[in-house]
Parts: sequence; C-alpha cells; structure tokens
Amino acid sequence: MEPARLDWAREWLRAPKRVFIDGVWRDGEGGSVASINPTTGEVLGTLQCANAAAVDASVAAARRAFASGPWGALARRERARVLRAIGEVARTHRAELATLIALENGKLYREAYDDDMPDTGDVFDYYAGWTDKFYGESCPVDGDFINYTARVPVGVCGLIVPWNFPLLLAAWKLAPALAMGNTVVIKPSPSTSYSLIRFLELVHEQVDVPAGVINLVLGGGEVGEQLSAHPQVDKISFTGSTAVGRRIVHNAADSNLKTVTLELGGKSPNIVFDDVPDFDFAVERSFQLMFAQKGEKCSEPTRFLIQLGIYDRFVERLVAMAERVVCGDPFDARSEQGPQCTQEQMEKCLRYIAIGKAEGAQLLVGGERDVRGSNAAGYFVRPTIFAGTNAMQIARDEIFGPVLVVIPFAEEADAVRMANDTPYGLAAGVWSRDLSRAHRVANQLDAGMVFINRYGCYDFASPFGGLKHSGWGKEMAVHSLAAYTKLKSIWVKI
Ligand code: NAD
Repeated sequence: MEPARLDWAREWLRAPKRVFIDGVWRDGEGGSVASINPTTGEVLGTLQCANAAAVDASVAAARRAFASGPWGALARRERARVLRAIGEVARTHRAELATLIALENGKLYREAYDDDMPDTGDVFDYYAGWTDKFYGESCPVDGDFINYTARVPVGVCGLIVPWNFPLLLAAWKLAPALAMGNTVVIKPSPSTSYSLIRFLELVHEQVDVPAGVINLVLGGGEVGEQLSAHPQVDKISFTGSTAVGRRIVHNAADSNLKTVTLELGGKSPNIVFDDVPDFDFAVERSFQLMFAQKGEKCSEPTRFLIQLGIYDRFVERLVAMAERVVCGDPFDARSEQGPQCTQEQMEKCLRYIAIGKAEGAQLLVGGERDVRGSNAAGYFVRPTIFAGTNAMQIARDEIFGPVLVVIPFAEEADAVRMANDTPYGLAAGVWSRDLSRAHRVANQLDAGMVFINRYGCYDFASPFGGLKHSGWGKEMAVHSLAAYTKLKSIWVKI
C-alpha cells in the first residue's frame, strides 16, 4: 500500500471547490458549504454549490453534448479507449484519491485504498469492453417483415451519489452511462464531494473527454431535487436512502416521466444454521461484513438470525471481537474503525442505541461513543451488539452504523419468516452445510442478493441491487447497460 498523501491533500483542499460545466470549472453561484472532517470535527474544505441556473446550465451542456457533440459520433472502439483511460486515472492516482476518501468519509485509509479504489478503476475497464457488445436482436415475426431491435442511449443522465462510497458508486454509474453513449450530470453528497471532484479534475487534465459529456454539480438535496424534476434530464440513477428515493420517483412522475433506477437502504438478515460448515469462518466473515467501513454499507447484514444450537457460542465470539475493536484516526495503521461520516450519522446511531435500550433489547457490547484520547473530537461509535427480537425498531429500521441485532431462531421456517418480515430486500446470507436447505431458503428470501456460505460476494459480472423498499433495477453486468439504454423495435416490409 502506498503511503497516504496527507500534506498534498491539505494543500489541495485549501481552495474552494467549484462545479464543472461544459468542460469548465466555475463558481456554481449557489453559496458556500463547509464540509467537516469526521475524525476531528474541523472544517475540511468548502464547496461552491450550484444554484438553479448552474444546474440548468449543466443539463443544457449535457443535452448539447448528447445531441450534437462529438461524443455520439465517436467510434465505439474510441469510446472504449476513453473509458480505459479514465480507469487508468483511478489506478495511477490511487493513493491521492484514497486519502481524500478517508479524509471526507472517515473510513480507514486502507479500506479506501484496498476496497474502494481498485474497483473504481476496474469498472471503467469492464464497461469499456461492453461498448460494442450490447446490441439488439433479430425477431422471428410472422409475415413479410424484417423486425429487429436496437439499443440506443437514454440521453442526459442525472447521477446522484451518497456519501458511503463516494467515488466507487460514482464510477459504478459513470462507466456504464458513458459506455452506452450517454452524457451525464453527476452530483455527489455535500459531505463527501472531494474525491469525485479531484478524480474529474484529473480526468479533465489527462483524458480527452469532449466538453459537456461529464458535468459535475455540487450541493445537497435542493440540487438533487432540481435534477430529478428537470424536464431535460432523461434518466436518474440514484443511490441513497429510501425516503429520498421516493422523492425522486415523485419528481420523475411530475416532470417528464424520466426513467429511474434506485439503489436504496437495507436491513439485511444473515441466517446461520446449526450446521454452519466452518464456524470460525462464519463468525469472522459475518462480523467483518457487518462492522467494516464502520457499518456504513447498504448491503451489510444488520440482523443476525442464529439457530439456537449455536446461538450462545456464536454471540459470545461476536461480542469478544467487538470489544477488541480499536477506533481511531483513519490514517493510523493501528485503527480498525474510523468515525461515522457525519455528526448527524453519529447522532442517528446513538438515538437508535437509546431506542434499543428503551424497547428492552439487551445491550451486549458497545452502546456509546468512543471518546478515548483524540477520538473525543470525532464522530466515533463503539461497535454495538444488541440481543433482541425481529419486532423491535432497531431490527426494523436502517441505522447505517455499527449497530447489530442478534436474534435466535428454532426452525428454518421461523428464520425465513423473520428474514422476510421487513420492508427492505437488499441482501441476505445463509450459512448451512446442507446445500439443499440453503437453496430452498435462498429461493424463499425476498432479497436482491443472497450469499450462501460467504456473505458479501461482489463481481462486475453479477447484478447488484435490491427488492421491495431497497430499490428498483440493478447495477453491474449487462443490467446497468439495459438501464442506460432505450430499446427500439424497427419493422421493415419486404
Ligand atoms: P441520502 O438519500 O440522504 O442522499 C443520497 C444523495 O441524494 C446525496 O447526494 C444527497 O445530497 C442527495 N439528496 C438528498 N435529498 C435529495 C432530494 N430530495 N432529491 C434528490 N437528491 C437528494 O443518502 P445518504 O445518507 O447519502 O446515504 C446513505 C443511504 O444510501 C443509506 O440509506 C444506504 O442504504 C443507501 N445506499 C444504498 C446503496 C445500494 O446500492 N442499495 C449503496 C450505498 C448507500
């Protein structure tokens, strides 16, 4: 791992950051917002947000670039070269970008470097390979006709990104959108805009992307509202909370019925049967998936449903691991958990801890801020485990922090019932030596992703996304390509 670039980052963060419209960095005229370093509570930098005119200008630039710019006319092979060059930027500047991610988000530098960054570069390579491989079909219609379908770009795509993987999730949207020939306006979270701003600065300097193809607007909900309600935006790809996802659907319906894909929240169950094939691996992997990145992952397993025969032993091990976790500065190699991303997020975790206690859940470990030494200035929350029931609010609401609920079950049917008794349906884990049972349970779970005997498997070739309140549509693989294209049917009389 390369060392972090802290001195460089402090220097770079000195200048207020601006929007990027039609190939030019400019003031968004929407006022300044300070972002806070979650490790210290100090100001990290300032953003000059986009006002309504700047958002309009960004959409107009994307529209021009789509309708009449060189992007649409570029040979697919050339478009692939552009995408690969963008991916290379992420690889070459991995330490610099990982430093900004850890500073703005509070995740460990090594998490940003090892988890976020490699896929940020590689997803552009993956979709570069698709530029000339996603096409229509010839349809066997009756009569004297030729009928075929064509895949065409959607047009101007608004990409709205949350703060937990600020650069990776932006790349998950940018790569397939660009691969299919769209133009974009992207909006990061105001808490974590810097890694994306820097990435786009580097892309602008090093890669020949025509003006207007990638536009960046800065700001919070009001900017996202304007994008989702904009009559000239053809599609919104949104990752974030379920509440905001609903707003986006309303805005899409009330404006131009733009298409919408939603990657939303979760409350994912992790079902561990008595006959778990490798007890130690299951405990360690489950713990890691739950608490890595300080519990700020949409698909993490936040409800562990554990069969009675192994419940005590499994929980004892989890508690022992939680007690040992060292919270601290993301750039200190001894740290195992960084601060929550924002003060609001820390307060949300503490509020739910209070709710858990009040509703009678048994607090097994944690349940408080970590204020040791210099941590007192940051937003650190100790890894927290409650023993509770599936009916409790802490087992129903997405908390999005290091707060786990463990729940015992007796029979397979009880586990399935509790697992599905949630408005969410993002992911689920099943651990059992009996693969017939594991498949049977996987089939019954209302979850977009089910992991048997290893929670948390991800690959660009496999669809990512949830069911029910966890979202609409999928990202990754061919599914992203479908979401960033329109399907046309063309008839020819012969
Ligand atoms: P959020 O919904 O508050 O914000 C997400 C983005 O939407 C930000 O850029 C924000 O500025 C913008 N936004 C806020 N209000 C808006 C509005 N009214 N209209 C349009 N845009 C608006 O979410 P967050 O707190 O940044 O992220 C955490 C949430 O994201 C969690 O619920 C988590 O589960 C979810 N998430 C889901 C996935 C997934 O793939 N399913 C991945 C990561 C995060």
